[in-house]
Amino acid sequence: MRKDDAVAKSIREPACIIPVMGQYDVVVLGGGPAGIGAAVAAARAKAKVLLVEQTGCMGGMSTSGMVPVFAPLGHTDRPAIAGIIQEVIDRLKALDGLGRNDDTMAWIPIDLEKLKFVFDQMVAQAGAKVLFFTQFAGVRKRGRRVSHVILQNKSGRQAVAAKMFIDATGDADVAAAAGVPFEKGDSNGRTQPVGVCYTATGIDLPVYREFIKSIGSDRVGWWLHLQESGAIPAIPKAEYRGVYPFEVTPCSVGVNFAHIFEVDACDARDLSRAVLAGRKMAHSYIDYARKNIPGMKNARIVATASLAGVRESRRIEGRGRLTIDDFKNARHHADDIACYDYPIDVHNATPSRKDIRKFQNDFDHLVMAPGKTYGIPFSCLLPRTLDNLAVAGRCLSADREMHGSVRVMPACFAMGQAAGQATAIAAKRNVPLYKVDIRDLQKKLSSAGVRLT
Ligand SMILES: Cc1cc2nc3c(=O)[nH]c(=O)nc-3n(C[C@H](O)[C@H](O)[C@H](O)COP(=O)(O)OP(=O)(O)OC[C@H]3O[C@@H](n4cnc5c(N)ncnc54)[C@H](O)[C@@H]3O)c2cc1C
Repeated sequence: MRKDDAVAKSIREPACIIPVMGQYDVVVLGGGPAGIGAAVAAARAKAKVLLVEQTGCMGGMSTSGMVPVFAPLGHTDRPAIAGIIQEVIDRLKALDGLGRNDDTMAWIPIDLEKLKFVFDQMVAQAGAKVLFFTQFAGVRKRGRRVSHVILQNKSGRQAVAAKMFIDATGDADVAAAAGVPFEKGDSNGRTQPVGVCYTATGIDLPVYREFIKSIGSDRVGWWLHLQESGAIPAIPKAEYRGVYPFEVTPCSVGVNFAHIFEVDACDARDLSRAVLAGRKMAHSYIDYARKNIPGMKNARIVATASLAGVRESRRIEGRGRLTIDDFKNARHHADDIACYDYPIDVHNATPSRKDIRKFQNDFDHLVMAPGKTYGIPFSCLLPRTLDNLAVAGRCLSADREMHGSVRVMPACFAMGQAAGQATAIAAKRNVPLYKVDIRDLQKKLSSAGVRLT
């Protein structure tokens, strides 16, 4: 090494020739709820599909992120959203993989190990190939088309060619690398806080729940008081927050935990800070709770999430854009591929009481009237600048407020299902995604159990 090289701020990576490891109809990047919906739907439509995932299991936030519950499928007896998400729930139920939820029936607690197994089976039975431990690393473009994605894993660097690609990375990694314009967070670039969920055992749940109820409606104030009084150690740029514990198996609970602020989910250093902080907070809270909180004497953490719980990062600029106005007016569109009614759920972006109050004032009342839904248009999954890339999941084209509703898992499965079905059609007919016959797409989705109204 030359002496100058050691202090250089950047270096030039030598150009190299990399092998093309395969040719597919559809390649799905990211195996979270959106990626699973996409791979299953595309493979069932007879496309040759590869799903690429950076971890060793599918599920994204629902497994590696340890988010313990699926959001409700709807607010009335007739679910607003259906299709592959319903099949996932039915399969989990058949394996005794749904947790018990006596208090808030509409939320669906999940046994994440059984869920991993359900995803493995669904994707394999549909006929899609899976490549784990592999990160998306770049794209090769020709005009308005992506010709290859570049992947990095233990085998080195490889390219994969496909007719169609689906970006289900949650962070729009593929779209961003392909030059698609995007937004991130609020007008100052601030995003919702990151969480680190965990599973615990040894909790006397009825007693603990009674205690939580006894705190009253100001639970946020209770958590703030715990850290401000020094009962649990304060962590910089973070606040303790534990949403209701869900019984995910007969002997364990899953907790949606912590708010870690100023995390750019597209920056590995920020993500590292977030998981380090979140793990520390989970252990600090359980240590405190064992000594001080009814029902928690024997509590013990079983596992903390290996993926940081990212609520918000990039949202692409699409051909269409879902807005808060669509929510307020329960609007449907000619190209809807699903519908939903989950409330606007945006968490405070800074750890201040003022900000928490502002978020509560701005968003807490934004709930759909029973029986009303909004539609999710296909155009929100299509980047403006590319013809053979769809996005699915929390990186869709939407304004920040609306994103607060459509980011939850049932909607992500539905977007994935639509993107998978549409790319299979486009690959077969050799047309750009925006030229897919929307009636044909909707008909196929309806036959697969998706609700469009
Ligand atoms: C703390 C927290 C609590 C939540 N609570 C709930 C809840 O209670 N109920 C609910 O329904 N929703 C909840 N949500 C929202 C929901 O979990 C997510 O918005 C949803 O999982 C997004 O799905 P997705 O498929 O778009 O992305 P993700 O679930 O994030 O999946 C993305 C996948 O892509 C992979 N990936 C990412 N980048 C790359 C890359 N470069 N190369 C290869 N693979 C890559 C990841 O490993 C991951 O598997 C919560 C979210 C958080 C963070």
